[in-house]
Amino acid sequence: MVAPPSERRVALASGNPHKAREWQDLLPGWDVATLDMSQAPPESGSTFSENAISKARYGALLAPPGLWVMGEDSGLEVDALGGAPGIRSARFASPGASDAENLAKLLAQLGNASERRAQFTCEVGCVSPTGDECHASGAVSGHIAGAVSGEGGFGYDPIFVPDGETRTVADLGATWKGRHSHRAQAAAQVLKLLNLWYPDD
Ligand code: IMP
Repeated sequence: MVAPPSERRVALASGNPHKAREWQDLLPGWDVATLDMSQAPPESGSTFSENAISKARYGALLAPPGLWVMGEDSGLEVDALGGAPGIRSARFASPGASDAENLAKLLAQLGNASERRAQFTCEVGCVSPTGDECHASGAVSGHIAGAVSGEGGFGYDPIFVPDGETRTVADLGATWKGRHSHRAQAAAQVLKLLNLWYPDD
């Protein structure tokens, strides 16, 4: 079934306004509607991809019929911390922690360690209007800076320096994220799927 252009709308199963804004920018030509996830069951998966498809399946129960639903689980994995915060990125310092609290805890745990390798990962689970499921992902490698820097982005962006760059993602800003981030890589795959599903009218 091909939706007319005015109905080029997808649903994002996320309560994170920063993610929603980035997804809207990353899917040009598509309206990204966010679903109310306030009653969603707690994340119980042991991987980003398990959590991502769980979010999408829950979102599919709420979404208007006919929409693709995307669930995204993402986070930062720091080698010297055994992959933490990983799937607990949003609640690293405590349940409901602020970005500043999570950053402070991570910098404190890492201290002056010289081994500061880290990676951002984004996993996306999608449920199609007919109930088919698919998957997209992206990752960016880099290192953890010695201190917070920059105003852009959200989450751990002020302490993550991507490989090939000398500044944090928060310093590099929205244009860099829109081209290179873990989420941008996953979104490019999602866009291909959507364009296959809804070929040009
Ligand atoms: P989720 O909502 O359970 O997927 O948690 C994602 C968490 O990972 C966010 O709250 C951030 O702490 C972190 N995170 C994910 N993507 C980004 C990003 O693009 N920049 C910075 N932090 C991110």
